[in-house]
Amino acid sequence: MYDVAIIGAGPAGASAAIFTAKAGKKTLVVDHDKGMTKKAWFENYYGITEISGPELVETGIKQFQRLGADLVEEEATEIKTNGDGTFTITTSENKQFDAKHVILSTGVALALAEQLGVITKPGTEPRIKTVLQVDEQGRTNIDGVWAAGTAAGVSVHAIITAGDGGKVAINVISELNGERYVDHDIYQPNS
Ligand SMILES: Cc1cc2nc3c(=O)[nH]c(=O)nc-3n(C[C@H](O)[C@H](O)[C@H](O)COP(=O)(O)OP(=O)(O)OC[C@H]3O[C@@H](n4cnc5c(N)ncnc54)[C@H](O)[C@@H]3O)c2cc1C
Repeated sequence: MYDVAIIGAGPAGASAAIFTAKAGKKTLVVDHDKGMTKKAWFENYYGITEISGPELVETGIKQFQRLGADLVEEEATEIKTNGDGTFTITTSENKQFDAKHVILSTGVALALAEQLGVITKPGTEPRIKTVLQVDEQGRTNIDGVWAAGTAAGVSVHAIITAGDGGKVAINVISELNGERYVDHDIYQPNS
């Protein structure tokens, strides 16, 4: 049983996975490599002078794997709600994974969320017609299902979608822990 299953390994999903894995939550990421980020060239990502989309995505994946999250490179074809409040994710190769929480960070692809019954609404960003309805924490209308990044209707910029993924992950971790979570490491100049 995974604590958190994240669908999508673009900036939103990878950032969420970095936080949940680093917090010690058993984390699954499912991604079929069809995101928009690999098409981009970035000169507006804070702290990085310039970077290609492929390098940004590949570094994000390495980062969450290094922290212990599992990656399944397949399409998630179905998410089913179980009677006990958990979820079963089925992939294109018929693998099944159970999770307590799901974060949908699927970019512009909303079919999976719609099949699950997540409520959508019109998007506000250029070329983003429809997004998932979420509250300020990133919760959808289905208990235990959260959304982040482009799928959740935030400004379509990598640093914003990455930040949103981190924000939603912190909210999920806080709910799992039963208290507000913060992840701060301290710089030790002489170590
Ligand atoms: C040509 C172009 C140029 C851009 N230039 C810039 C720029 O200069 N600066 C900037 O800040 N932003 C730019 N952007 C926007 C930026 O790339 C996005 O805002 C941001 O990276 C989106 O991140 P995301 O994680 O929400 O979605 P995505 O990066 O699209 O990731 C979604 C992921 O979900 C996966 N997925 C979806 N459905 C499933 C499923 N059912 N099963 C498994 N996996 C699934 C996809 O494979 C994908 O990897 C550009 C975008 C484009 C297209």
